[in-house]
Amino acid sequence: MASAEIIAIGSELLTPDRTDTNSLWLTRELNDIGIDVMLKTIVGDDGSRLEEAVRDALKRADIVITTGGLGPTADDITREFTAKAVGRELVYHDNIEAHLRERFKAWGREMPEINKRQAYVIDGARVLPNPNGSAVGMLYQTEGKFLVVLPGPPRENQPMFTDHVLPLLRAISGEVFVSRRLLRVAGMGESAVDEIAAPIYKKYDNVETSILFTKVEIEIHIAAKANTYAEADMIAQRLTNELQAAIGKAVFSTNGDTMEVVIGKILTERGETLSVAESCTGGLIGRRVTEVPGSSSYFMEGAITYSNEAKTRALGVDPGIIHSHGAVSPECAEAMAAGMKAKAGTDHAISVTGIAGPDGGSPAKPVGTVFIGYSGPAGTRSFKIILPGDRYLIRWRASQAALEYLRRQLMKG
Ligand code: AMP
Ligand code: MG
Repeated sequence: MASAEIIAIGSELLTPDRTDTNSLWLTRELNDIGIDVMLKTIVGDDGSRLEEAVRDALKRADIVITTGGLGPTADDITREFTAKAVGRELVYHDNIEAHLRERFKAWGREMPEINKRQAYVIDGARVLPNPNGSAVGMLYQTEGKFLVVLPGPPRENQPMFTDHVLPLLRAISGEVFVSRRLLRVAGMGESAVDEIAAPIYKKYDNVETSILFTKVEIEIHIAAKANTYAEADMIAQRLTNELQAAIGKAVFSTNGDTMEVVIGKILTERGETLSVAESCTGGLIGRRVTEVPGSSSYFMEGAITYSNEAKTRALGVDPGIIHSHGAVSPECAEAMAAGMKAKAGTDHAISVTGIAGPDGGSPAKPVGTVFIGYSGPAGTRSFKIILPGDRYLIRWRASQAALEYLRRQLMKG
């Protein structure tokens, strides 16, 4: 299997001001034809480091792709030092200069003399035309390896790569097809998921599986490779089915849909409606639910009832409940959900009340204690969860726990 390395060139990419996104895009393109990226390097506008980086990469990888540093100014040194790295001269192409002059003329301008630098190409390299800018790219083959030199701006290097580089690489990578799945799992930790999943995915030789955690859930990324797309897709689906069967209901999505999208689809399909009453999540659940296009067909309203008084006034929570059990209690969570459902007239309502911290915890109710309430056609109930993390994570995880609780209730009905 062919291997690749990517070198992003530009001193700005070594500051916090600019991020190298070219390598992310290129990596996805390469992965999709079965080429693995083994190493990425970011080099500033420094000739000797660039030369060394390119030379070293060519020792290790079959394909080396650089982006950036092909502009006309003195800090654009990629042409010169990629040529040095492969031990070739730069040669002047008068047809490139003529083309550049034409481009400038078309904008009603005279070509500045410094742009002549852009007419130099590594001796023996194939010129990659750039319809979207002044810097041509280069493709140089040496000892069975490919050096691909692309301009920095994504709108220039992406079409150049797709039109002129990808077809060549596809030929050498031997037509490998990739099919992907993204499973999302709620309410379980990374190691618990991996304990169940690893014995299954390790049986699949041509599938790359990675387990990642986000602030609210576990993601299982699957990339199956085969000689045809149909075959790759069948393998990806078989592994997905096996994982889903083993992990169970905690898998809430196998196509990458987020929790709020999954819930939206269930409610839309059933023609049912939702409202939310939030305390410690401060509107986060409402925000997440309404980020989904079309949510207005099922999401009716939300209330952020932070104070005890607001819980009573807006949701009709009996002050006696708060007095005897506290605002962070199963009784209050249930009264919030039932009150919200009645006021909004929705089929379902969820509520959250808890302690996000850093203050306000007690031995009986430590920071992270959260009660989730649900009220629906089959009645009102609640559950307690103790969430780890700081205030930010507790709020996000509480929003996820509430949406997951709702999903479980919807699955029952
Ligand atoms: P250059 O070819 O080095 O003159 O880069 C021109 C422009 O391309 C820069 O100002 C950036 O906006 C963009 N660019 C360069 N390298 C990258 C990269 N690795 N990722 C994203 N954008 C880039
Ligand atoms: Mg630059």
